[in-house]
Amino acid sequence: MATRKLAASTLDRFKRILEERERELLAIIAEHEAERHEVRMAETAAERSPDPESAEGGSMAFEFEKELSVDRNTRDILAQVRRAIIAVEDGTYGACLVCSRPIKVARLRALPHTSLCVNCASRRR
Ligand SMILES: [Zn+2]
Repeated sequence: MATRKLAASTLDRFKRILEERERELLAIIAEHEAERHEVRMAETAAERSPDPESAEGGSMAFEFEKELSVDRNTRDILAQVRRAIIAVEDGTYGACLVCSRPIKVARLRALPHTSLCVNCASRRR
């Protein structure tokens, strides 16, 4: 496994940023879950109504789909944030997962949860 020498204070700072990010993402996910619960309640009510093809029902389904895709992205980033926190702890943070080369600190500042250097990230696209 590739390791990256970063100053302890730098690692500390990134870890705090990542933990803060993790809390934000968990809050967003909890909020989405609460919203979905409301949508489900509304849909159950709509199913009982005499007009299930109502425009309102359709737009609710659309909102639901949109929420789900936002949620998938949020969970995806959360997983990356958590992997990065583990990497800080085991000393692999800041080393590219693909080529093992150091990820530039400027890139880590912009994208603290990234596990790829700029070259490998652009090749994946
Ligand atoms: Zn790389």
